[in-house]
Amino acid sequence: MSETPIFQLHRGDAPLLISVPHNGTRVPDAIASRLTDEARRVPDTDWHVADLYAFARELGASMLVPTHSRYVVDLNRSEDDVSLYPGQNTTGLCPVVRFDGGPVYRPGEAPSPDDVAARVETYWRPYHAALGDEIARLRAAHGRVVLWEAHSIRGTLPFLFEGPLPDLNLGTASGASCSPALEACLTAQLAAQSQFGHVANGRFKGGHITRHYGQPEAGVEAVQLEISQRCYMDEDTFAWDAARAGRLQPLLRRLIEDAIGYARSA
Ligand SMILES: [Zn+2]
Repeated sequence: MSETPIFQLHRGDAPLLISVPHNGTRVPDAIASRLTDEARRVPDTDWHVADLYAFARELGASMLVPTHSRYVVDLNRSEDDVSLYPGQNTTGLCPVVRFDGGPVYRPGEAPSPDDVAARVETYWRPYHAALGDEIARLRAAHGRVVLWEAHSIRGTLPFLFEGPLPDLNLGTASGASCSPALEACLTAQLAAQSQFGHVANGRFKGGHITRHYGQPEAGVEAVQLEISQRCYMDEDTFAWDAARAGRLQPLLRRLIEDAIGYARSA
């Protein structure tokens, strides 16, 4: 077991949990030594997403933030590594291909099935155990909880999708992971502004966490928001852009407030 914590959990008192499964950047030395130079920069990180949503703690939200990079193990894939988007380019449980199509590992250094199993045990299971426990705590306290899957991605990635991605991409597993009323409330909030483009269930419909935990009939409402990184950072240097983030955060706050309000009233 690594001495670095696997995740940080902030427990709030509102019926909403933000999960940020791709925010981590740490790669243990034994894995980093096997990566290509490009991959060591962990370019496919959902950069700064926990910081982008830092305001949500003031609203009472809980937040679960992992330490390690998706190149160690992707927490938003199922442990049996079923493709999220059959027939389209995507990346797996222990990705060997970057979002730009290049290799994550140096020749001959890709993880073996035993490596993958060990990473699932060390990093994947503890995150999911914490996620499941926190969902259960909030649902027991409130009767209903919203799981907000917070993501971001470079807005132009020809290997994964054609043309620029819309600014804000809401995913509800095509309506299966949350109640229609919650999706309607969030899309109405997005439609009430014209600064940021948006789509629901476009290229990104929600990953494993959204699809697995979202059970609206059982009081767990899961939604994913995939944000194009140009909305709050520099996509080439990975630097936070305070001016851009400051324009986006008021909208994110309204969405989170709506989600909390929905969970309280439903
Ligand atoms: Zn992500």
